[in-house]
Amino acid sequence: MGVIIDQSKCARCGRCSDICPGNLIRKDGDNKAYLKRQGDCWSCVSCVKECPVGAIALILPPELGGSGGRLTLTQDGSVTRWVAESARGVQTVIVTDTKEANKY
Ligand code: SF4
Ligand code: SF4
Repeated sequence: MGVIIDQSKCARCGRCSDICPGNLIRKDGDNKAYLKRQGDCWSCVSCVKECPVGAIALILPPELGGSGGRLTLTQDGSVTRWVAESARGVQTVIVTDTKEANKY
């Protein structure tokens, strides 16, 4: 697993590197984020949730959508829109709302 950072989307805000508990995300000479050591990432998803432009994706294990699948998300207040995309481009969208966390 681990994450992948799409530098073409990176807005250079530094939020991912600030929140990573392992201090694994650094900035390159252009102030864009990159993952220092993929093998050290334990897929906590904090950086994926923190990125305001959806530039970071969690690499999904093969048993979830086949090899090459990715999970991204966008947040709007209490609502999170999780998008799992398989290597073939098939998307599964799950919407959660923290205001409804105790609903069930
Ligand atoms: S998933 Fe967690 S451990 Fe991995 S780079 Fe992001 S914040 Fe750091
Ligand atoms: S949180 Fe997103 S936009 Fe901000 S530095 Fe990290 S990858 Fe770039």
